[in-house]
Amino acid sequence: MDFSFLQRLLPAADLRILGWEMIGHRLIVALKPKGLVARCTACGATSSRIHAEYRRRVEDLPCSGHRVTLEIHVRRFRCDNALCCRQTFAQCLAPFTARQQRRTARAQTLLWHVGLALSGAAGARLAQRLGISISGETILRLLKRNGQKHVATTSNPTIDPM
Ligand SMILES: [Zn+2]
Repeated sequence: MDFSFLQRLLPAADLRILGWEMIGHRLIVALKPKGLVARCTACGATSSRIHAEYRRRVEDLPCSGHRVTLEIHVRRFRCDNALCCRQTFAQCLAPFTARQQRRTARAQTLLWHVGLALSGAAGARLAQRLGISISGETILRLLKRNGQKHVATTSNPTIDPM
């Protein structure tokens, strides 16, 4: 099947589309990294010895009102460096998504901008309307992690202080 149109929508060219399916209002796209060699995250040595493969789901930007979930088939490699502290390591998907992140970097960026404009609860409601499920608390954590302090507005900006 030709996935060239869908492939153009992805920010990372080194991910190959395996297939897709619609479940309700959610588009699930199965992806696999193209590279068969990875660099150990601890010592930097390269390895092509695949230890295992697992599926990792990350939420991406919505498309035409549908939620988009990327199911990435991540490989786990063996590190051949005898002096390394790790025996196995997972393929790095940065800058597409960071380790242990549940969203792509571009979805995180969108939510960060939503958080800057509206903050927690209101930002979560807008994100929900845009097709990204997130809580207000998570938006606030995202702002704090990126160096933005949440400023509680106690005054009404429409009231002139004079
Ligand atoms: Zn290593």
